[in-house]
Amino acid sequence: MDFLRPTTWEEALAVKADQPEAVPIQGGTDVMVEINFDVRRPVALLDLNRVAELREWDLVAGVCRVGAGVPYTAVIEDLGGTLPGLAQASRTVGSPQIRNRGTVGGNLGAASPAGDSHPPLLAADAVIEVESRERGVRMIPAAAFYLGVKRSALEPDELIKAVHVKPATGPQYFSKVGTRNAMVIAVCSFAVALHPEERRVGTGIGSAAPTPRRALEAEDLLARELDWDAPDLDPALLKRFGLLCAGAAAPIDDVRGTAEYRVHAIDVMARRTLTWAWNDYLGRRAA
Ligand SMILES: Cc1cc2nc3c(=O)[nH]c(=O)nc-3n(C[C@H](O)[C@H](O)[C@H](O)COP(=O)(O)OP(=O)(O)OC[C@H]3O[C@@H](n4cnc5c(N)ncnc54)[C@H](O)[C@@H]3O)c2cc1C
Repeated sequence: MDFLRPTTWEEALAVKADQPEAVPIQGGTDVMVEINFDVRRPVALLDLNRVAELREWDLVAGVCRVGAGVPYTAVIEDLGGTLPGLAQASRTVGSPQIRNRGTVGGNLGAASPAGDSHPPLLAADAVIEVESRERGVRMIPAAAFYLGVKRSALEPDELIKAVHVKPATGPQYFSKVGTRNAMVIAVCSFAVALHPEERRVGTGIGSAAPTPRRALEAEDLLARELDWDAPDLDPALLKRFGLLCAGAAAPIDDVRGTAEYRVHAIDVMARRTLTWAWNDYLGRRAA
C-alpha cells in the first residue's frame, strides 16, 4: 500500500486527480478501523495531515469556515459560542482520544447516516467546500451532500476542503440517543437551530433514514405558525412539530434499535430540543 504525503493543498489535489483510488486519511478514526478489520484494503492512502491549512478555521465576511482537518476538540474549545449545535454534537463523539483525532471533514467523507456532525450542519444550513484539480471549487449545501448510505456528492477526484457555516444568531441544540453516554454510535439523533432574524427554524435528523436529512414539513409548519413574539411555545404546535419530524424519518430495524423506536425517539427529541431552544430564546429576548 502506498502512503502518499502531500504538504500543500495543490499537491493533495494533484495526487487525487492522478490517483482517484487513493483513500484520503485525516484523523484515521474511520479509515484505520476499516483497514484493521479488513473492510477495505486501499492501494494507496492519501495522508492530509501535512496540509496545514486544513487544520485552520476562521471567520470572514460573516461566515465561519472550518477546515476539513479541524478536530472535534478544537470545534468544542474554539467554536462553542459561534457554532453551538456543532460543538454540542462534537462533545458526544467517541472519547477524548477520538475527539482529538477525528474531524468534521472525516465525518463528511464517511457520510454515515449516524455521523454526529450531520444534523447540526443541516440545521444551520452549512455548505461544504470541495475541490478538484480539473474543475476547481464546488460549494455543496449540506442538504445536497448526502446521497445514500455512506455515499456523498463528492466525486472520486475531489477532496473536502472546509465547511462553511454562518455563526449562530439563535439557540441551537443537539440530542442523541445511544445505549450509553459515551463511545456510542447514535441510535438516532436530532438537531434544531433557531434563526430568529429570519423567523425560521432549521432541523437535522441523524441515523433515522438512509441519509441525514432535514424535516422540511416541520420546518415549514414553524415558518408559518410559530409566533416569535409569544410568551410561550404553543403545546399543540409543539406536538405537531414532533409528529412531522418523526414523519420525516425513514428508519430501519438494526442492531442498535428498531424503526418504531427511532420514529418515537425523533418525535421526543424534536419536541425536547425545540423546547430547550425556545426557552433560551425567551431568556435572550427578555435580557
Ligand atoms: C471508538 C470510535 C468511536 C467513534 N464515535 C463516533 C461518534 O460518537 N460519532 C460519530 O459521528 N463518529 C464516531 N466515530 C467515527 C469517526 O470518529 C468519525 O466519523 C470522525 O469524524 C472521522 O474523522 P477522521 O478525521 O478520523 O476521518 P478519517 O478516518 O481520516 O476519514 C473518514 C472518511 O473520510 C474520508 N476523508 C477524510 N478527510 C477527507 C477529505 N479532506 N476529503 C475527502 N475525504 C476525506 C476518508 O477517506 C474516509 O472515507 C467513532 C470512531 C471510533 C473508532
